[in-house]
Amino acid sequence: MIVREIQARSILSRSKIYDYVVNPYVGCRHGCSYCYARFMKRFTGHREAWGEFVDAKINAADLLRRELTRKQPGRVWVSGVCDAYQPLEKRYRLTRQCLELLFQHGWPVTVQTRSPLVLRDLDLLRAAQDLEVGLSVTTAEDRFRRLFERCAPPIPARLEALAELHAAGVRTFAMIAPLLPGAEGLAEALRGKVDRVLIDRMNYAHANALYRRHQLERELSPGWFEQTARRLSAAFGRQGVECQLVFY
Ligand code: SF4
Repeated sequence: MIVREIQARSILSRSKIYDYVVNPYVGCRHGCSYCYARFMKRFTGHREAWGEFVDAKINAADLLRRELTRKQPGRVWVSGVCDAYQPLEKRYRLTRQCLELLFQHGWPVTVQTRSPLVLRDLDLLRAAQDLEVGLSVTTAEDRFRRLFERCAPPIPARLEALAELHAAGVRTFAMIAPLLPGAEGLAEALRGKVDRVLIDRMNYAHANALYRRHQLERELSPGWFEQTARRLSAAFGRQGVECQLVFY
């Protein structure tokens, strides 16, 4: 994998999902096969395959310190087009530095990751004023995770991270996106671990090809996404957990 240290020009960007987004890295080692963030390569000029390069914005905290004093406060998404807790974060701690600044300034934050490395920062997270932490959990069966998210942490580790965050008093959510085969078991697997759930389907152009590659066409039978999402939504409803279907 190619790792570069770069000086970014800005770090607190406007977002369509939340008010702002902070991406401490360009690229993502998790390299999920369905990742929509791979479109980034068009703008950054990387020739390596998605998942095979990561640029660390080593001046992220310096930039954020300045930008926080110049911009109107709003909710910050950490992160949008990379995983802020991908393996390199162990070495660089850029996400941790950014979170420290955001919390010091009292800005609301939504963290979203696939990695239990987020637990390293539990001391910061449990003290934050306005924070929610989401783990993306796409299936309850790790054999399907291995097909689509080969380099991302195993599902059981994500479930344990959610349980630990929730038990520590942090508001948690599960992002079931994209819904993968084996997702049916998630209502039970997430029981008691989350305050809310979001579900999205794999609606990207390459979904058909990906499913064919893994010989999972059966799962793409007409209505599979909708039926599974609605069944999950009803199950979460019975648990009293708010569940939002995105893009249905
Ligand atoms: S963890 Fe997120 S950003 Fe990283 S490759 Fe997977 S989907 Fe893309």
